[in-house]
Amino acid sequence: MYTRCLVCATPFEANEELQHLPHGRRLAFDPKRGRLWAVCRTCRSWSLTPIEDRWEALEELEKLATDRAKLLSQTENISLLRAGQLEVVRVGKAERTEEAWWRYGRELTSRKRSWDKLGVAGTLAAGAVVAGGWATGGMTMLGVWLVMGHGSETVRDGARWLRFGSSAWRGEGRCTKCDHLFRSIPFRERGALGLFPTEETGKIELVARCPKCGEYRDAGLHLRGQDAERTLRRVLAYHHFAGASEQRVVAASRLIQEAGSPRDLTRIVIKDGRRLGDLQRTGGIALEIAANEASEQHLLEMELAGLEAHWRREEELASIIDGELTPLPFLEQMRRLVPGAGG
Ligand SMILES: [Zn+2]
Ligand SMILES: [Zn+2]
Repeated sequence: MYTRCLVCATPFEANEELQHLPHGRRLAFDPKRGRLWAVCRTCRSWSLTPIEDRWEALEELEKLATDRAKLLSQTENISLLRAGQLEVVRVGKAERTEEAWWRYGRELTSRKRSWDKLGVAGTLAAGAVVAGGWATGGMTMLGVWLVMGHGSETVRDGARWLRFGSSAWRGEGRCTKCDHLFRSIPFRERGALGLFPTEETGKIELVARCPKCGEYRDAGLHLRGQDAERTLRRVLAYHHFAGASEQRVVAASRLIQEAGSPRDLTRIVIKDGRRLGDLQRTGGIALEIAANEASEQHLLEMELAGLEAHWRREEELASIIDGELTPLPFLEQMRRLVPGAGG
């Protein structure tokens, strides 16, 4: 069993998940062809495990993948899974799919724990909690705030302000009716923000009412595309700063599941248009999970495309190393080199 990368000799980190393969935190395996690689965290190379060391480890890995691993993302050919400290690339479609929104759900429940902590301590001790968890630069200001005798509610407000600032969006945009110039959308006006579906499934248009002419649906400020996505994620995170209980996250996850996908969720939650302030809590939480899941999914998909290309090259090599090259493809290759033999 290799303990170091075959290419750059970086030692593989120990893992506590696998008895038969205690080295390596990122592994790749193909249960059908019986391949197993340890992936180097430094040079990203794949080291093919010697054939005699594979079988127990493969069995163990497959069990881990089906019983405990969470599916992060997959293509037709490979899936990326996580189990404890391990990141696992599995060749072949995952047989059991666990949705990816669990990660963001966990973020919401841990946010609730921070929120509860902040409420308990209306003292300088809370300042330490905030400064420890978020911006260190804000400590002094929060300290002042606390010394001035603000209670636990304002500690929470202070923590939220430190994290998000006061505007959900900044930029320049004009009301299409009266030409009023928008420069920001303050968080305090978030309840009135309109969420509307667009022709593109899962994409939302954000609409702010014009303070001058009072127009809302047909004019005002309309945000679309990335601008809308980013602002929506910020506004929802601000809106749910208190986080959510595990129960709520489970209910929200179920809602996503029933919708079929995070993308279809918007259809159910905002229907033909809703104000943020009118969203039901579970629907709102589900929307936040879905909005973040979609952006993270995009990053994962890009990573996965790279991994798949990598796997193709490694599989070619592995089949040679494992001595499975049959003469036929070899001859085929030779034939292509002969002029006039055709491709
Ligand atoms: Zn390496
Ligand atoms: Zn206007």
